Amino acid sequence: MYKTIIPKEFGFVKGDFPLTVELPDNPDQKPPKELKIKGRSRRRFNENDVFHPVKVDKKTGELVAKPKNNTILAWEQHKAASARIASRFYAIHHILKAEVQLAHASGDHATADRIALDATKFFERGQRMYNCASFLQHGKCPDCGRAHTSSAILCRDRVCPTCNWRLSLQQAVEMQNTLALINDIDQYKAAFFCVTIKNCQPADLKGTLERMSEAWNRLLNRKKPKRDFKGWARRVEITYNRDTRTFHPHYHVILLVPAKHPDTLFDMSAMICDYWRNALRLDYDPVTDFEWIEDLTAGGLDENAAPNLHKAILETFKYTIKDNELSEMPLDLFRQFVEQIQSKRLTSYGGIVKEARAQLDYSDELDQEPQLSCGKCASPLLNRVIYRWSFASNTYERFENIMIAKADHGA
Ligand SMILES: [Zn+2]
Ligand SMILES: [Zn+2]
Repeated sequence: MYKTIIPKEFGFVKGDFPLTVELPDNPDQKPPKELKIKGRSRRRFNENDVFHPVKVDKKTGELVAKPKNNTILAWEQHKAASARIASRFYAIHHILKAEVQLAHASGDHATADRIALDATKFFERGQRMYNCASFLQHGKCPDCGRAHTSSAILCRDRVCPTCNWRLSLQQAVEMQNTLALINDIDQYKAAFFCVTIKNCQPADLKGTLERMSEAWNRLLNRKKPKRDFKGWARRVEITYNRDTRTFHPHYHVILLVPAKHPDTLFDMSAMICDYWRNALRLDYDPVTDFEWIEDLTAGGLDENAAPNLHKAILETFKYTIKDNELSEMPLDLFRQFVEQIQSKRLTSYGGIVKEARAQLDYSDELDQEPQLSCGKCASPLLNRVIYRWSFASNTYERFENIMIAKADHGA
């Protein structure tokens, strides 16, 4: 039995990190179904969590820190999730290091070197994610009063919960702006649909994603879609089935077709199901879900003017995989998942949506430019405040509060 203990100098938090990782006695044995990660019970977060770290001065009873706004609370949830995912990268790093020792011991130095390289990659990736969004800057819009994140340094890892959250928000806003740029938008009818494929084994995830992407291109080349699919955006979502240990990848698509085309009068859902089955060369009818978005008009595209469109955009770009599925699946599957989706394109655009995005100069990357003015009112943000992540309390603390506390302590 090996026990790998993560050294203290990594500066780990007590709660979020595996302190020991148990490996099988016999290295030739298959990895255990679930690698046990010991550690203090983890703090859980959900959308409705309200924890205001309001501090009260014990002597005077006065409030020391103001309650946090919702933006900060949202950052806290995602940052804590990123720390949990980072800890999984460290855990894999430690398992690989043990494998390196075994390979050296058995005289297979070439294998040892190869695994060592992998181990370093996992360590560095964990390190970057661990430090993701350690500092935040927030400002307030003097006109609408909203608090905005004006800057944050992010790791841009594709499985980082914080980065994925920011990317989802960014892509949703981009989609709204993109549709707004298409000036004859009322000439189109929008649909939101989902196409699926049967669950796949973790080792087949990459192949399945490739198959889906080929099928999508094949579908687009059919006569009707070629003529009628004027613009689209699609994003991959993957769900994890804990009972069967399989993955379920599927596409969410927002599609624009000509409003006046006769086909739009009929049920397009059967057509898409048929095309998708043929494109994937399936012997069963794949599950597809189709609905028209009735409120795409030139009248306005925001949440109030077009609630259905807004909902479809959020649904399309919400996430690739749920944070809790990623942090709770067995470590061996987590590693496979990370490796299988590496360099796979998860979001793609076509037709007039792609053209409008190019005009707006949008890229597929997470934008890290500091935002110094309000997105709604364009007013410069005032009262910018810096927050620093505290690994001890799993919360953001106002940086000047920390400095003041330190100064008080010194005096
Ligand atoms: Zn504003
Ligand atoms: Zn990140």
